[in-house]
Amino acid sequence: MIEKVLIANRGEIALRIHRACHEMGIKTVAVHSTADESAMHVRLADESVCIGPPPSAESYLNIPAIISAAEITGADAIHPGYGFLSESAKFAEIIEKHGIVFIGPTAEHITLMGDKISAKEAVKNVGIPVVPGSEGEVSEFKDAAKVAKRIGYPVIVKAASGGGGRGMKVVKSESELEIAVSSAKREAAVSFGDGTVYLEKFLTTPRHIEVQVLADTHGNVVHLGERDCSLQRRHQKVLEESPSPALNSTERDAIGEVCRKAIQAIGYRGAGTIEFLYENGKFYFIEMNTRLQVEHPITEMITGIDLVREQIRIADGLTLQFKQEDIKFSGHAIECRINAEDPYTFMPSPGQVKDYHTPGGLDVRVDSGLYTRYKIPPHYDSMIAKLIVHGKTRNECLMRLRRSLEEYVIDGVKTTIPLHQRLIREDDFISGDYNIHWLEKYLDSLAID
Ligand code: ADP
Repeated sequence: MIEKVLIANRGEIALRIHRACHEMGIKTVAVHSTADESAMHVRLADESVCIGPPPSAESYLNIPAIISAAEITGADAIHPGYGFLSESAKFAEIIEKHGIVFIGPTAEHITLMGDKISAKEAVKNVGIPVVPGSEGEVSEFKDAAKVAKRIGYPVIVKAASGGGGRGMKVVKSESELEIAVSSAKREAAVSFGDGTVYLEKFLTTPRHIEVQVLADTHGNVVHLGERDCSLQRRHQKVLEESPSPALNSTERDAIGEVCRKAIQAIGYRGAGTIEFLYENGKFYFIEMNTRLQVEHPITEMITGIDLVREQIRIADGLTLQFKQEDIKFSGHAIECRINAEDPYTFMPSPGQVKDYHTPGGLDVRVDSGLYTRYKIPPHYDSMIAKLIVHGKTRNECLMRLRRSLEEYVIDGVKTTIPLHQRLIREDDFISGDYNIHWLEKYLDSLAID
């Protein structure tokens, strides 16, 4: 049985994991950089170990320091959270070599899904529909031109090892293709240490819809419905909701079942997310994330299932306590990602929080490590809080979200709360009529105003 978990992360997600552990009677070990000595995840953990200086490469990505921290404190499992080492097959492998449990999938599955080309191939073979594109890598312009001609412009050149919304280039016509392919390869080699690129049809009005799955080590798999993450800026999610306003229950059950069967066929274990673009009633796989997602709480709000608890139980070799037919979706949930950034220019705004007050009340959840006088360090991602709201209907959820955003006080730094307040009042958002390009167009229109 897992009795002590080292949390190899920081910020709200480290707290989130700590909370699940304590509710299960499991002790926690926080690791932190010197910039995070007074962070909430360090304060709440049972034990903490400093693993290096502020830059992530020397602390939160420092595998030897994290393994030593686990050994010194006698942690029997490591939870990687999201970001940092969560999708490093090497990390998962080293952890298990040290006789520590990795709370996540096998290193083989992380490797398979970490390369977008092999992931696409693998899921296609188990019945998941994919975006039309090249069969694997395109290295020569003439091959790319052939594929583009077959699928039709616009196309998108994507890095096989890309992530975080980076490593993608949209190409509108053949005249732009040669330069796009060669520069994408160069940039991918520099950014991801792998210059492999591939080609896909660029969908012009899709929604981003992803399906959450949970698989135990005994062959049981369930899906927990979908999340609509179409509100994006620079391919990064800003606000997510579940269920998607675009799907009906027949479509939901159908895509959920396709994913459930595919995950079972692959022999995957743990929590995972299968991401799709959805256009004109059709789903197209883009990638699979082999970890907990930032937006997982909206799924928890509508299913009542604690995903972190389930991840830990699965890592402990336990059987899922529910079957697909036991999972009931109730009401509607929305998450706003709140960043320490100027709400219009998106310039980071680290610094000291002077005053802090969180919203509360029925069906309101705030996942954040903030507190009054906390100094937000400039070294990490600017997301400082997630506001998650549930309602019996989408409309009730929207009204509750408006009210909660009004109550939320984070003084001393700029935040994206005013942006959320504005965008949830927009007619297109209220009617659910938006796609992955909507937010950028909306932001452009604000700049012109
Ligand atoms: P990452 O791993 O960097 O998040 P993804 O493959 O998940 O990359 O894509 C991120 C986002 O990029 C998608 O949500 C979508 O907005 C956009 N995108 C990716 N592929 C396509 C495509 N074929 N057509 C249109 N947009 C795309």
